[in-house]
Amino acid sequence: MSVSQRMPAIFFGHGSPMNALENNRYTQAWEQLGQRFPTPKAILMISAHWMTHGVAVTAMAEPKTIHDFGGFPQALFDMQYPAPGDPALAARIAELLSPELVIQDQQWGLDHGTWSVLVKAYPAANIPVVQLSLNMDQPEAWHFSLGQKLALLREEGVMIAASGNVVHNLRRLAFHAPAYDWATRFNDNIRQAIVSRDWNKVINFTRMGSDATLSVPTTEHFLPLLYVLGCHTAQDQLEIVVDGIELGAISMMSVVVA
Ligand code: ZN
Repeated sequence: MSVSQRMPAIFFGHGSPMNALENNRYTQAWEQLGQRFPTPKAILMISAHWMTHGVAVTAMAEPKTIHDFGGFPQALFDMQYPAPGDPALAARIAELLSPELVIQDQQWGLDHGTWSVLVKAYPAANIPVVQLSLNMDQPEAWHFSLGQKLALLREEGVMIAASGNVVHNLRRLAFHAPAYDWATRFNDNIRQAIVSRDWNKVINFTRMGSDATLSVPTTEHFLPLLYVLGCHTAQDQLEIVVDGIELGAISMMSVVVA
């Protein structure tokens, strides 16, 4: 295996799919991330929007662009992100996660958790992308440990990316309103835990009581963060590249481990 520059791990707070069409301080931060690091050989993406029983990895050569949302403008449904897949990387991931059984999936593709941020970070769509699913049968600590097992990929030229939101409560969305106090408190506590490398505090976020219950009513948008934190090394810096609460109850925090 050739020597590669170590790649970063990045958690993207993706928010609304409309960010794919918009230009704002979050999307500008994603664009800058794409220019900041050497071009990866491939990107492994863990998206909030692929939930499974067991673990699967996209293993097709040409993953389709999935428009997994409703009620948005036609322009969003027209968007394509024709990045190639990487079957060899999919097989390598199964090897790294062994003895965990990793299904080599031929059905999924790139969901909007993946392409709505990569269309900004890597608009040319010429870097192979593989998605790893979220096994919703497993607890938080298990997801963190999977990140630890995947960390070696960073030495092999693969960027590890994850897409979700630290605070994500669609039932509490408030238009033209400030952030809820519980959302701000929870987001601040998680940010503080990240920069102080207090992994246990992040993994055991439910100990934050009602702030956690309201901020993370379901775990799928939070879990991707644990993969990025799990693949840190002692020499990495942890950096919050952009942050903010949108619609009262969506945290747009993005985190770089590099
Ligand atoms: Zn989402």
